[in-house]
Amino acid sequence: MATSTTRPAVSRVLVAGASIAGPALAHWLARAGVDVVLLERAERLRDEGHNIDVRGAGREVLRRMGLEQEVLANTTGEAGTRFVDERGRTMGAFPASTSATGGPTAEVEVLRGRLSRLLLDSCTGLPGTVEVRFGEQVADVHEDADGVDVQLASGARERVDLVVLAEGLRSRTRDRVFGLERGEHVRELGMYFAYLAVPREPGDDDWWTFQLLGRGRSAHLRPDDVGSTRGLLAFRADVPGLDQLEPAAQSAVLRRVFTGAGPAAERLAAATAEHPFYFEAIGQARMPRWSQGRVVLAGDTAHCASPMSGMSTTLALVGTHVLAGELTRPGASLEGALQAYERRVRPVVDAAQKLPPGTPAVGNPRSTAAIRVIGAVVGLAASRPVQRLRLGERLISPPADVELPRYEHLAA
Ligand SMILES: Cc1cc2nc3c(=O)[nH]c(=O)nc-3n(C[C@H](O)[C@H](O)[C@H](O)COP(=O)(O)OP(=O)(O)OC[C@H]3O[C@@H](n4cnc5c(N)ncnc54)[C@H](O)[C@@H]3O)c2cc1C
Repeated sequence: MATSTTRPAVSRVLVAGASIAGPALAHWLARAGVDVVLLERAERLRDEGHNIDVRGAGREVLRRMGLEQEVLANTTGEAGTRFVDERGRTMGAFPASTSATGGPTAEVEVLRGRLSRLLLDSCTGLPGTVEVRFGEQVADVHEDADGVDVQLASGARERVDLVVLAEGLRSRTRDRVFGLERGEHVRELGMYFAYLAVPREPGDDDWWTFQLLGRGRSAHLRPDDVGSTRGLLAFRADVPGLDQLEPAAQSAVLRRVFTGAGPAAERLAAATAEHPFYFEAIGQARMPRWSQGRVVLAGDTAHCASPMSGMSTTLALVGTHVLAGELTRPGASLEGALQAYERRVRPVVDAAQKLPPGTPAVGNPRSTAAIRVIGAVVGLAASRPVQRLRLGERLISPPADVELPRYEHLAA
């Protein structure tokens, strides 16, 4: 790898994946005058998904981007989180957090698709260009001392200084380029999630209703700011590969698993037969290294912490800010920048990947006896005296409060 310090480490970069990490990285690189080609495999910007949390240092990244106020104006207005048992009885309720880091409902809860759109829109009018290509992906990469030739699936070719893979937890390009078995270094958590939007009904309110159903299942209803209700069905299963099935087969699995599980779960399961949904196997990316030559991993592809951590989006924002900051630091070498990226971000990732004890079983217990025990703990944490101590919030506080390096050369 060339490590000249007389020219910038990168002047043209190809980024694969346009969800959160991809557009966030493109923003920072273009701000420093780097030209970016941003590929998205889907034919359009994907708008599926629920609320995602932006906490602590992730929020500081949005502030540095100049996007904080716009994101705050686009939050879903979730009032808090209410845990209910299998019969729909409230076990405990936690109002939305007023701190930047704590609580199950974070202060910044924004629809994933909306944040993706805001990040992408922020890539225009910057010193570098960001060219977005939908329905496109990397087919092959050939690296030499001065750069990388990228063969794209459409047949087009690109010559760039660096390829960044921000394709999510199950990135196939990562596995191919790094020579990994499918799923190698992914820590499976033995759970599936199905996300969808359903028409809002009169009984739906502005709380996140988190219902424990027993037999390793839970159902979730959350408000959004577009007049629908966001639903999530979660279930534990030892059977691998359900995420590879066709949507009709996944819908059939969901309807079977949630039969008799109560009105909320059955409403969501039935809706998967009519409404589009996003179905994923839950896991964490535990990659031993994040770069190989001129290919580097970002966001969930490098370090997914899983939705249970509440931290994947924050990590994607922090990681891409640091990656861009190091790559465009005056006098930086490519090799040195990639090492600094990993050195600075790893400790934050390691902390975020340590899930609270008992996760994911604790949110999806198998027996009604376990639901009762969890109900007692949640009820105590949500009681007035304990809430005054903000103990519940502290217990459910992902480690988002980390200090970000300052990159003066990226300041607006
Ligand atoms: C549709 C969708 C819905 C989601 N909903 C939720 C949610 O409700 N709650 C939650 O906590 N997290 C959700 N997530 C995950 C969440 O966005 C991430 O954990 C986090 O924000 C980090 O984002 P990321 O950009 O690293 O990865 P991701 O958000 O996973 O994005 C990866 C992107 O890469 C694209 N891609 C995949 N393969 C290729 C390829 N070969 N070439 C080009 N592009 C490719 C994907 O289409 C996607 O746009 C969702 C992700 C997606 C894709």
